[in-house]
Amino acid sequence: MSRFWNKTINETTPYVAGEQPKAGEKFIKLNTNENPFPPSPAVKKAITEFDTATLRLYPDTNATPIVEAVAEVEGVKPSQVFVGNGSDEVLALCFQTFFEKEPDTDLPVLTPEFSYSFYPVYEEFYNIRPKKIPLREDFRLEPSDYEGIANCGIAIANPNAPTSRAISLGDIAKICEANPDSVVLIDEAYAYFEENYETAVSLLPKYPNLCVVRTTSKSYSLAGMRIGYAIASEELIEGLLRARDSFNSYPVDRLAQAIGAAAIRDVDYHKKCREELLKTRKYTVGELRAIGFDMPDSSANFIFARPPKCIDAETLYKNLKAKGILVRYFKTPGINDRLRISIGTMEEMEQFIKTVKEEITNAENS
Ligand code: PMP
Repeated sequence: MSRFWNKTINETTPYVAGEQPKAGEKFIKLNTNENPFPPSPAVKKAITEFDTATLRLYPDTNATPIVEAVAEVEGVKPSQVFVGNGSDEVLALCFQTFFEKEPDTDLPVLTPEFSYSFYPVYEEFYNIRPKKIPLREDFRLEPSDYEGIANCGIAIANPNAPTSRAISLGDIAKICEANPDSVVLIDEAYAYFEENYETAVSLLPKYPNLCVVRTTSKSYSLAGMRIGYAIASEELIEGLLRARDSFNSYPVDRLAQAIGAAAIRDVDYHKKCREELLKTRKYTVGELRAIGFDMPDSSANFIFARPPKCIDAETLYKNLKAKGILVRYFKTPGINDRLRISIGTMEEMEQFIKTVKEEITNAENS
């Protein structure tokens, strides 16, 4: 608290990012859902060929190289793409642009009960009333739960984090249809981690109230670059451009624009990394279930697993950390019996499984 801060800053509890080890600390890092593979070789080429003399000049405000790459790969018009400094920034601008509360109605924004922990921060920061919609058995999202509730907007991560479960395009269509006057934000940070992944982008021609948000942080291995984007109707994109130009006209630097466009265009490499990751996920899930872990089938690059009765999630989290393996533990009631585990390389996951087995044996014998 400070008397120099305004009311909003005094009253907002900021987001706490997953732990990032300090330089020199060596961990198997399975706590922030980064991609274990390096970015596309096209990224290195873009950096090598980058003309540093151009850094003298401001970048293209719209990040046109990325806009064009996204439009081409996703089959949409460039005027349907908005690029920002990481999808966190894009999501923040979406909350600000589409969900701001009307003082006379005070309608809430609907989000799943357990979801990305930045959403409640945006709600506090922009002073929008939250309404958490409970999930059903095994964290299943039931689309009809989003019908008949007056709201100023809806935000759903698909696949959801930290639960790892996805809903179908049919479910998203139902939610858009049931809420024609609200923007339905579908946060696809973890899209692509399925063999036949479905993106809500294909629903855009039918639903002008749908806004799909993506990031290059996960599936493109570019968390360090900070590139996110929204794909939506021109009407929604225009709103985001207005919000951006009331805040920071140059959110994406020149180097990021070159790198992002190169990574997004390398469709084959992207697919190869996905296939590798899916194999490793299958191995990890199989091994963990065999020793008594319980988890829903994952559609993401992480799993959300409850350890067997002999050891609680918090103890396992601490013991793994002491042995150099970082996973994510949330103290939140309702999910505090689980660990969110990012899928690393096969070698990392073998080491992880070996360490978990040791912990289970120790717990059983104590
Ligand atoms: N959405 C979800 C559901 C996430 O888990 C994350 C990563 N923390 C983000 C968005 C933000 O990703 P970034 O800002 O790196 O694009």
